[in-house]
Amino acid sequence: MGNKQSNEKQIQESQISQNQSQLSSRDSQISSSNFTINKIQKQVLLNQELIYPSSDNCPSKINVTLNGITFWSNYDSGNLSQVEQIEATTFNLSISEDCQGRIPPVQCNKGTRQWFNFKVISVTDFQANFVIVNIATRFKKIWTNDSDIYVKINKIWSRYPAVYQGFQVKFSFEFKANQIVQFAYMPPWSYKKNQKFFDFYFSQLHPDIYFRRETIAHSLEGRNIELITITKNGPHEQQEYYCPEFLFPDKQQNESLIKFKKQYILISCRVHAGEVPASFILKGILESLQNYNESAKFLLENYVFLIIPMLNPDGVYRGHYRLDSLGYDQNRVYNRILKFPKFNGPLAVLETCKNYNVAFYIDLHAHSVLSNSFIYTNWHPDPSIHQAILEFPKQMKSKVAHFRIKEAMSTQINYEKNQYEIEGIYTEKEENIQKAPELKIHLTKENLVPQSMNDDCPYSINPYLTGVAKSDVYLTTQVMFSYTLEVNYRFYTKNKQVFKYEIIDFITLGRDVIESLYSAHQNQDFIQIKQHLDSNILN
Ligand SMILES: [Zn+2]
Repeated sequence: MGNKQSNEKQIQESQISQNQSQLSSRDSQISSSNFTINKIQKQVLLNQELIYPSSDNCPSKINVTLNGITFWSNYDSGNLSQVEQIEATTFNLSISEDCQGRIPPVQCNKGTRQWFNFKVISVTDFQANFVIVNIATRFKKIWTNDSDIYVKINKIWSRYPAVYQGFQVKFSFEFKANQIVQFAYMPPWSYKKNQKFFDFYFSQLHPDIYFRRETIAHSLEGRNIELITITKNGPHEQQEYYCPEFLFPDKQQNESLIKFKKQYILISCRVHAGEVPASFILKGILESLQNYNESAKFLLENYVFLIIPMLNPDGVYRGHYRLDSLGYDQNRVYNRILKFPKFNGPLAVLETCKNYNVAFYIDLHAHSVLSNSFIYTNWHPDPSIHQAILEFPKQMKSKVAHFRIKEAMSTQINYEKNQYEIEGIYTEKEENIQKAPELKIHLTKENLVPQSMNDDCPYSINPYLTGVAKSDVYLTTQVMFSYTLEVNYRFYTKNKQVFKYEIIDFITLGRDVIESLYSAHQNQDFIQIKQHLDSNILN
C-alpha cells in the first residue's frame, strides 16, 4: 500500500506544481474577458471564483487513518472529504460538493454531492459499516431502497448492495487484512484512464484506419483536452490552413493542419465530470469503429470522426459530479462563451463546428433522474427537415430495447428573433411523434443575457434549457443534426418493470450509435433532405 500511495502522491504533487504554473495565465484570461460588469463587481467575481488555487486544497482529496483503517481519495477522480468513527465498527463518511458548493453567482448548481470514489485498507480482518451521510437531495430519484454501489477488489469492479435511506447510503463490508478495496458511485473513468485508453486504442487499429491524437485546448488547470481524428485512410487533401490561436496550443505557429474534404461527425463527452456512463458509450462507439464492420466501414469512408473524449478534465480529476474547477456547469455556457473566462472545452466544440464541415454533432451524457436512454434534439420549423433530424433517434429506438423516443425533447430555435422555443416532449402516439403544446415555453433573447451580477442567480430563468451544447451548436453553426444522447446511471423501465443497467449496456449503446447512423443513411428520404441541406450550406 505504501508504494502505491506514495506513487499517487507524487503524481498529485507534480500535478499541483503544474496547476500553480497555470494560475497566472488563468488570472489574465479572466481579466481580459470582456464581460460587461464594473471593476468592483469583477474583483468580487474574481475573488469568489478563484478561491481554489489548485488541487492541493481540493476538499474531495483526503488520506486519514482511524484505528488501523486507512481511507484515501487523494487520486485522480477520487472524492471523499471526511471520515468519522461513530462506533467501533461504524463510520460516517462525507463526500464533497463540487467546489465545496462555492460556485460562481451566475448559475444555480447547488446539490452536486453524488459522486464518491475512495479506497480503504485495514491492517486486520475487520467488519465495517459505512454510512455516506450527505448524498444530495437533488438527485434522489436515482436512489432506491436497494440501490447498488460499485466495489473493486483484486482489480475487478462489481456491483455491491447498499441501502438508501433519507439521503444516506449505507453498506457493510468485510475487510481482509491489508487488502485494498475501492468504493465508488460507478467504476471510475478518470483523466488518467482516458489517456491510457487512447494509448492502447491506437495500437489496435485496422491498417486502413487513419488516426490522429492531439491537444485541442488546455483546461484551466492545465490538463489536456484531447481531440481524436479517425477516418478511412486515403489521399488526404489538405485544404485551407486552419489554426485559431486559442486552439491547438501545442502546435507551432504557422503549422498547418490537415482538413479533409469529407464531412465530419463530432462526438464530445464528459462535459459533466461524473457522467461515467458517457465514457462507456464512447468506448462502444470507438470499438465499433475499430471492429471495422460494414457500418463502421461505410461511415469511415464517408465521414471523419472527431472525438473530444473529455471536455471537463479538471472536474473529472477533482472527483466532481458535474461542474468544472470554477464551479460552472459547462453545458450551460455555450450561449455566452465569449463573455466569460475561457471555457476551453465548449469553445473547442463550437470552433470545431464553425471551422470544419460538421454534419453530425453528438454530446454524450448520463442522466440522474430520467430513466432509460433517450436523445434531446432540436426542433426545426420545416416538417421534412424536422423528420430528418428525428431519423437518428428513430433508428436508435428501433435497435435499442431501453431507448425511449418519447423523451426526445426538442428545442425550437427561432433564428430571426434569436430565441429558444421549447415545444415540449414528444410521445410515441401518431407516427411516433406528437407535440405536447401545453408544455410550450418561450425564452426571449433578454432571458439569455445576464441582467445583473448582484442577483443570486441571474440565469435562473431556466438554466436547464439555455446554453446547452446541442442547441447552441445548432443555433450558431448551422449543424442541423445536433443531439444530446442520455442514459440513466442506474436503471431503465420496460413494460412497467425496472431493470438495472450493466456497464456492457452502455458500451452496447455506443455500438448502436454507429449502427443507427449507418441505418439512417439507408433511408432515401433522409439522404435526400440531408443532400438538400448540404447543398444549401455549400451555396
Ligand atoms: Zn450531463
